[in-house]
Amino acid sequence: MTMKGLYVGIDLGGTKIAGALVDRDGSILRRIRLETRVEQGPQAVIDRLVESIDQLMDGVRSTVKGVGVASPGPLDSRSGVVFSPPNLPGWVNVPLRQALEDRLGIPVKLENDANAAAWGEYRFGAGQRKGTMIYLTVSTGVGSGLVLDGRLFRGENTFAGEIGHTIVDPEGPPCGCGRQGCLEALASGTAIAKLGQTADPSSSIHSLAAEDGGVVRAEHVFQAYRMGDAHAENIIRQTVRYLAIGLSNLIHIFNPGKIVVGGGVSRAGDVLFPLLQEQLDRYLMAPFRETCEVVPAALGEDAGVLGAAALWTDCGQQVVAGEPA
Ligand SMILES: [Zn+2]
Repeated sequence: MTMKGLYVGIDLGGTKIAGALVDRDGSILRRIRLETRVEQGPQAVIDRLVESIDQLMDGVRSTVKGVGVASPGPLDSRSGVVFSPPNLPGWVNVPLRQALEDRLGIPVKLENDANAAAWGEYRFGAGQRKGTMIYLTVSTGVGSGLVLDGRLFRGENTFAGEIGHTIVDPEGPPCGCGRQGCLEALASGTAIAKLGQTADPSSSIHSLAAEDGGVVRAEHVFQAYRMGDAHAENIIRQTVRYLAIGLSNLIHIFNPGKIVVGGGVSRAGDVLFPLLQEQLDRYLMAPFRETCEVVPAALGEDAGVLGAAALWTDCGQQVVAGEPA
């Protein structure tokens, strides 16, 4: 086994906690997965995190240079405090980094989960060889991470990249954040499912859902779209239009070479990508159409653990924009 530095990446953002022991080239040497059991409160989760990290480091502890943790936000990655994420109920201002460092005796970095996934895709996945890349995740929510000129961009308070809460229709539906018309309220998997539920009774969305547990999910809407269902087509076209509006705003501001799209909804890429490209061509100013490529994420569920571990490596090593692949 390599005796160069090793790193531990933890992703609290999924349905389970995922952990990995990673080398600096992004190879995963060991993995661990465990139930989050948020209902037991932060202390119990921290106990199990410490146990898992110890297990990952077993026998190689002296070569582990650092631990990176990707957590649902809002959080402050500089102070290492997790505020009160909707996905971690019962967590209020938890000093996660300090708690882990005290128990492990190893330095820990904390990062927002979309940012960590963005960094993972940039370092080891679909975003390589571009100086400026935007990672978009569309699942139950909509999130993004910005890599600008080779660096993960966090902003003044490390809150940057909340594309899901940019407003794309001021008259739009209410959002979980308390405002209305956010991209997340219009174009997440949850939003697609909601529109599917209220689709015309004749739509095959309902029969597909009935055969599959009864509750309409985003995947039923995509399935109906593939079968040529006009109601599903309206829903998907409208959703993708809002995604394109949100993305085109970011593209005009940041001039990324790549948009990397991940998250559960991107599994319907056969439908999503051609439509997204078509809508972006409509909303982008001419020079941006040629310079920004939209591609699927490459790392799947590993983006978070790899990105979290890679927070420790060569953050300063920049890839020159336009460098040939
Ligand atoms: Zn919102």
